[in-house]
Amino acid sequence: MLSEALPKIITESLPGPRAKEILARRKVATPAALCNPYPCVIKRGSGAMIEDVDGNLFLDWIGGVGALNIGHSHPEIMAAVEEQNKNYLHAMFNVLTHEGYVELAEKMNELVPVNGLVKKTMFANSGAEAVENAVKIAKAYTKRPNIVTFSGAFHGRTMLTMAMTAKKSYAYGMGPFPDGVYRTEYPYLYRKPEGMADSEAIDYYIARLNKVFEEASPAAFIAAIVLEPVQGEGGFIPAPFEWVEAVRDICNEHGILLIADEVQSGFARTGRLFAANYWQEQGFMPDIVVAAKSIAAGMPLSSITARQEIFDAVPAGVIGGTFGGNALACAAAIKVIEILQRDDFCGRALQIGEICRKHFSEWQEKYEIIGDVRGLGAMLGIEFVKDKESKAPNKKLAARLILDAAEHGLLLETAGTYGNVIRFLAPLVITDEQLLAGLAIFEQSIRTCASELS
Ligand code: PLP
Repeated sequence: MLSEALPKIITESLPGPRAKEILARRKVATPAALCNPYPCVIKRGSGAMIEDVDGNLFLDWIGGVGALNIGHSHPEIMAAVEEQNKNYLHAMFNVLTHEGYVELAEKMNELVPVNGLVKKTMFANSGAEAVENAVKIAKAYTKRPNIVTFSGAFHGRTMLTMAMTAKKSYAYGMGPFPDGVYRTEYPYLYRKPEGMADSEAIDYYIARLNKVFEEASPAAFIAAIVLEPVQGEGGFIPAPFEWVEAVRDICNEHGILLIADEVQSGFARTGRLFAANYWQEQGFMPDIVVAAKSIAAGMPLSSITARQEIFDAVPAGVIGGTFGGNALACAAAIKVIEILQRDDFCGRALQIGEICRKHFSEWQEKYEIIGDVRGLGAMLGIEFVKDKESKAPNKKLAARLILDAAEHGLLLETAGTYGNVIRFLAPLVITDEQLLAGLAIFEQSIRTCASELS
């Protein structure tokens, strides 16, 4: 069974012959800017495994970049989608109600940790679209023009979310961008100012945030502060709870909404259904939560949840869209939530996180090129450096590692402002045996690439 299999490369080289042919067609037919393809082309996916068109078996630690926490082709999800498929594909919720949308919104209102007794949820198609909607809604409610985002942030590739995203290589030559987006420093503790204890650094980052109100936009003009509870593309950096709590206090003081972008951290990845559940346990919550990716097991869907009062400020027709909350995607998402809860995916994420962290931390002791190991639950990153002393980012090594691991049947992906972090986003249905096999390939690749590049 593919879902239980271990990685195995059977072709003489990668990509195999059939994959090579399709990749060559990809090169001709699609823009190069859609980035560098891995040396495989998927034929089937099951659990944490991919079989490519040449019969090679890959262990997938990328998981659709966080969209497949529940695994490839979960049989119950496939069945739910097939069942929906029998009746209708599409309704268009702005004009025609379908029950799946309503049922999913009810579920989200029950589960998503946002402030307020009565909650509402709307659906869109992608993470970027959901973030854009959250900002629109926050502006409509507060009647304020500006927002604050962070260094290292990634919120998408639309014009507003590009403006919100920190890495300007994503936005090169694309301006002008929407105005009123102000940026301050995210608490990247590994690269905090030298000589500071973590607690001092948290005070420092809060002081930097307050500077925005003095130097860029008065707090009274800020509609929302938008943050990722664990930065994804920025390098798998968890926001310390004390820092988030202080941000929450600032929001309370100035009437600013706190938006949690849980596009990558949501749906059991961090050991809670949402990373903001950890904040809830500490006694505070965001005002708006945005989710996407793993919400519907690979179907295009995203969500925005907030208290009723916030949504009520939005004029009719200003939000929504043709495909948002599509019937097939909603059917998948309802089943995803049922399975994640029933099969305790949060518990499994914690177990997986513990196993990986133990290995990653041992490697950190052993290898000079591992500067930092961090994350929350099963959302873990390893930061590669030239040496521990200088902390100079080692992007070349991370890039080489990915290719070497793929050659041995393990799919890994980089992240981080400097492209030197390897992220762990394996489907949470990964078996212990597969996890250990992946760890063995990963460590061997670290050894090989470190000695090659030294
Ligand atoms: N927000 C975060 C935190 C993300 O990680 C991403 C995608 O990686 C997005 C937003 C954008 O999501 P999408 O690619 O679905 O537009």
